Amino acid sequence: MQTTILMYHMIADPLDSIEAVLCRTPDAFRQDMLQIRQSGYQVVPLASVLDCIAGKNDLPEKTVAITFDDGLACIYENALPILQEFGYPSSLFIVSGCVNGYNEWGKNFGLPRRRMLVSSEIRALAESGMNIGAHTVNHVWLGKSKKDVATKEIRDSKAELEDILGQEVSTFAYPFGDWNQMARNAVIEAGYTGACSTMPGLNKKNTDPFLLRRAEIKGGDAPWKVRLKLRFATSDMPPRPPIRSTLRKLFSKKTDESV
Ligand SMILES: [Zn+2]
Repeated sequence: MQTTILMYHMIADPLDSIEAVLCRTPDAFRQDMLQIRQSGYQVVPLASVLDCIAGKNDLPEKTVAITFDDGLACIYENALPILQEFGYPSSLFIVSGCVNGYNEWGKNFGLPRRRMLVSSEIRALAESGMNIGAHTVNHVWLGKSKKDVATKEIRDSKAELEDILGQEVSTFAYPFGDWNQMARNAVIEAGYTGACSTMPGLNKKNTDPFLLRRAEIKGGDAPWKVRLKLRFATSDMPPRPPIRSTLRKLFSKKTDESV
């Protein structure tokens, strides 16, 4: 098993330059999905990755899982139709306190106000086969929170989403990728079976299921970067220009015209 878990935030045209890094346009997202298929990767549910780590199943080398953080309405409006077109499973981690509202936490970072998913859309996503996970109630920095606050955020987001769905919510993603041992323990104690970090790297049989690795696809990533991230699960490109240029050449082969 060597599984890449991709992380996206919004599938939408960016409203301004601040959110551009977090917004993958629907066209670019469709090309990513096509790239996954053309590169011979099998898209697997997050549950299969966790089962493999637990020793319950095995996964081939070229597997990838797709995840989205936050729970913006664009996941229902723009991502779902494309995922259905390809028949790909995915996971979505929702800020439960902002459901039926707006991305209130984004104000602190100058992000434009965006509509969040409403309850009926979350149920529709779950019915389509998307795995729904939690992402705290208020999108807090868990690693910088006091234990009682972190514990409440982790537990309540699970309970609130379970109320909406009428089924168990068993996966979690740390907002901002911010975690510490206390937060990780609180996730385990709350009854989750796995959690995603934002640390890059391939997921293997010995990966901590409560610190799964993810590679972020950013708004402006060119097709060659997507291929590189798919293969090596990196989030940031090597800073040295000669290495970047070599990698670009290596990963900018034939399919560039079509993707
Ligand atoms: Zn987030």
